[in-house]
Amino acid sequence: MNEAARDFIRQIIADDLASGRHREVVTRFPPEPNGYLHIGHAKSICLNFGVAEEFGGRCYLRLDDTNPLKEDQQFVDAIMRDVRWLGFDWGDRLTHASDYFEQFYDCALELIRNGKAYVDSLNAEQIRAYRGTLTEPGRDSPYRDRSVDENLELFQRMRAGEFADGEHVLRARIDMASGNINLRDPILYRIRRARHQRTGDDWCIYPMYDFAHTISDALEGITHSLCTLEFEDHRPLYDWILDQLDLPSRPRQIEFSRLNVAYMITSKRRLAQLIEEGRVGGWDDPRMPTIAGLRRRGYPPAALRDFCARVGVTKKEHLIEMALLENSVREQLNADAPRAMAVLDPLKVVLTNYPEGQTESLPAARHPQRPELGERELPFSRELWIERDDFMEDAPKKFHRLKPGGEVRLRNAYIIRCDEVVRNEAGEIAELRCRYDPDTRSGLPGAQRKVKGTIHWVAAAAALEAPVRLYDRLFTVPRPDADRSGRDFHEFLNPDSLRLVPDAKLEASLAAARPGEVVQFERLGYFVADSEDSKPGRPVFNRIVTLRDSWAKIEQAALQAER
Ligand code: ATP
Ligand code: MG
Repeated sequence: MNEAARDFIRQIIADDLASGRHREVVTRFPPEPNGYLHIGHAKSICLNFGVAEEFGGRCYLRLDDTNPLKEDQQFVDAIMRDVRWLGFDWGDRLTHASDYFEQFYDCALELIRNGKAYVDSLNAEQIRAYRGTLTEPGRDSPYRDRSVDENLELFQRMRAGEFADGEHVLRARIDMASGNINLRDPILYRIRRARHQRTGDDWCIYPMYDFAHTISDALEGITHSLCTLEFEDHRPLYDWILDQLDLPSRPRQIEFSRLNVAYMITSKRRLAQLIEEGRVGGWDDPRMPTIAGLRRRGYPPAALRDFCARVGVTKKEHLIEMALLENSVREQLNADAPRAMAVLDPLKVVLTNYPEGQTESLPAARHPQRPELGERELPFSRELWIERDDFMEDAPKKFHRLKPGGEVRLRNAYIIRCDEVVRNEAGEIAELRCRYDPDTRSGLPGAQRKVKGTIHWVAAAAALEAPVRLYDRLFTVPRPDADRSGRDFHEFLNPDSLRLVPDAKLEASLAAARPGEVVQFERLGYFVADSEDSKPGRPVFNRIVTLRDSWAKIEQAALQAER
């Protein structure tokens, strides 16, 4: 890796390896299985697994399952699926915080024996009141000076299930006057009679995040514990716990800024809310910023990795443009996606000089830059569909598509001229009557004849009619969950985030599209055959992304109008 490409974390790791402080780098990605992973997690996954890979080290996938009330096996399965899909491999390093419940308990006993932890019998509300505020110090609990023996006995009885939920907690004995609220005797254990998805009813006390996480890191020999900036204020507690206990290793916590992408929400709690309220179809709805949603939307894993690499790792909080993500997606797809033709808003064209009942088959390259992908056959006949907005009756000079008396080339086929516009009773344009120039298809002398515009088309008789879903951003403002006006994120849901075209006209070859297969509909964008709803011969397509960033243009136009 070249020096310039190194972010501050990779620099620290390189230095630690060079100085001999560590022989091997060990990292972990520690999601809580209380929801699906989202794009923000992708950044953390790429960082943790990425540095382990680059420096020849190891990375653990650790499920942080210390809160049985919120966690679920379906989320564990989804997390593993998503990390693997992103292209990372934890080998035999799949762990659970719950693997260490017995060790956490022993560590708690060690703290109690050393006078560093005590059983508090204040209730939750009292504990809050005693904690003080950012400006006022806290007060000692009346139970703070219980003897070691009494604490040991009470804690053991807590474990044995002799008390009700909330009756006691175990707290670290640090400093109720600390300027850092996290050090004001934080809770280490609470009583919670809940069945754990892995340990069942073995435990009725569960450790708090900071305690469990620090010890898990030390037990696994994590060298660099990488987390997001909100844990910066927890680092003194992390270090305090390491100082007090006799543990096999001493990890170092390093914080970096969260990934925030414009027009997206990355909070599992809020995403869960959108699902419960039926605003989206589920965790894998193609509009969701979850990894499962992005996968179903058709984003390739390489695009997400590329995006995370471009975003980089810093300590600065900023909002990343969606265009950056979409460009990574386009770059990946452009290289690989075969081309096809589809008409989403059809207008009929009748070729008056094309014999009725005749059909022919025109070969077309699957990919303009990749002849090895071969060709597909396009049926051609007298009646065709073209895109309604590729025709204009009172067209300005610069309109180079089809207009009365004008010529246009049909992609991979002939040049046609529009002779007549036919209207229905309502006065709407119902069909165009055109003539084709039989000399102008590929392989014939007129193939080289130039006209200004080329449009896509689909032969009417052979068209495959299929649903196409046009997805757009889920929210209308860049920071839906932190809007300056203080309004709730629901108010910014984009009512047009999904537009269904029930019967788009697709070229016949698309009937063979397999679920998950990606194609470029020429001039329209990249589309994927939906992995859930497609049936053999009857694909349902999702729009992954348009060919160009139409929003950037709209935003630019809006900016210019403001000036
Ligand atoms: P959420 O707020 O969505 O519930 P979380 O931080 O509570 O997210 P965890 O399962 O605890 O979710 O996160 C696992 C790891 O992913 C943590 O190390 C966390 O720092 C990291 N992470 C979470 N969100 C982001 C983000 N937006 N950008 C970068 N890393 C993130
Ligand atoms: Mg968390």
